[in-house]
Amino acid sequence: MEKFLKDSICLFIILIVLLLFLIIYKIFPFSVYWQQLLIPFDSSVVQENKDTSLSSEEPPLKTTTRASLFMVGDALIHSAVYADADTGNGYDFRPMIEEVKEISKNYDLAFYNQETILGGSELGLSSYPRFNSPYEVGDAFVDAGFNLVSLANNHTLDRGETAILNSHQYWKQHPDVMTAGSFSSKNEMDQPNIGEVNGIRYAFFAYTDWTNGLVVPSGKEYLLARYSNELAKQDIEKVRDQVDVVIVSMHFGDEYSLSVSSRQREIATYLASLGVDIVIGHHPHVVEPIEMIDDTLVIYSLGNFISAQRGVEKLTGMMFSLDIVKTTEAGVSKVSLENMKAGLVYTYSDTINGIRRNFKVYPYQNLTEELLPNHEMYYNKYMNLILQNVSNVERW
Ligand SMILES: [Zn+2]
Repeated sequence: MEKFLKDSICLFIILIVLLLFLIIYKIFPFSVYWQQLLIPFDSSVVQENKDTSLSSEEPPLKTTTRASLFMVGDALIHSAVYADADTGNGYDFRPMIEEVKEISKNYDLAFYNQETILGGSELGLSSYPRFNSPYEVGDAFVDAGFNLVSLANNHTLDRGETAILNSHQYWKQHPDVMTAGSFSSKNEMDQPNIGEVNGIRYAFFAYTDWTNGLVVPSGKEYLLARYSNELAKQDIEKVRDQVDVVIVSMHFGDEYSLSVSSRQREIATYLASLGVDIVIGHHPHVVEPIEMIDDTLVIYSLGNFISAQRGVEKLTGMMFSLDIVKTTEAGVSKVSLENMKAGLVYTYSDTINGIRRNFKVYPYQNLTEELLPNHEMYYNKYMNLILQNVSNVERW
């Protein structure tokens, strides 16, 4: 009987020890360590168990990252504008856009269309109808944080191949700036234009639907990306799966028309079908309505950003901003456009002895009655026009 009791106690202790061991094994945080002790030569099992424990105990990881984008329209540098920027020792356009810089500098990406070619002073500056502008125009935009630049428009060919290549030389000195729509070689044109900001990969293309009757030199089609459905399809399909967002700059539409043409809508609809997320339009020199085509944001015309054209309609342009938001959950990413906001800018100048001077671009909210009488009336007029077809865009 005593032996039986001893054996029972012994068995009980063994059971308790085993139980304790099991409990410790289960709850001890470094369970992998125990597993390594128990299965020292089979690391694949350890790895497998580790993965299982992660996926079963932790909720699927959801991450959100965003990149902000700002957009303005055409930099159309007439002689009155560069004469006003002449310092006697070069040109300084920075004061002309300093009020907008206060806004644009805060964005990850900032777009504008360099309508007039930056061929440089050495080629001789010129105004309408065949423009050539000094490099200092680019300096002012770079200083204000602009880093997405369209080079494709109806004035790209104004001063020929030399001016185009000079402009490329200039922009290549600014590797933080991504240009599109005009290239120095076929090889350069074939390289996908992909960038990344805050973990968001984007592709940027620029095309023009117009050339003012100027012909791209034969065999040098890379100098100007003329829009065709085929070219856009080829470009976009090449990158669509490699990036989160595709941005296309379109120089299209009818000059001085405040409404969208059927050609513009046809191109925008086609681009949307290719999976383009944002279409940034310009060329009409005035603003036009914004539309959503399914999930694609289409800004048909940003209007002028800076110019010496005349009339409030042509001196008023749009500024537009949004957040590109990328959400990744269980390895699947999706992109949405949020916080869309539209506002207006106005190019002010005054005239002394018939000469226009003191050019300066003002966000409408900074205008006074002295700078532009009835600016509130103009603000409402153009904002109502821009936003007539959308309800998800805030007013600046
Ligand atoms: Zn144009």
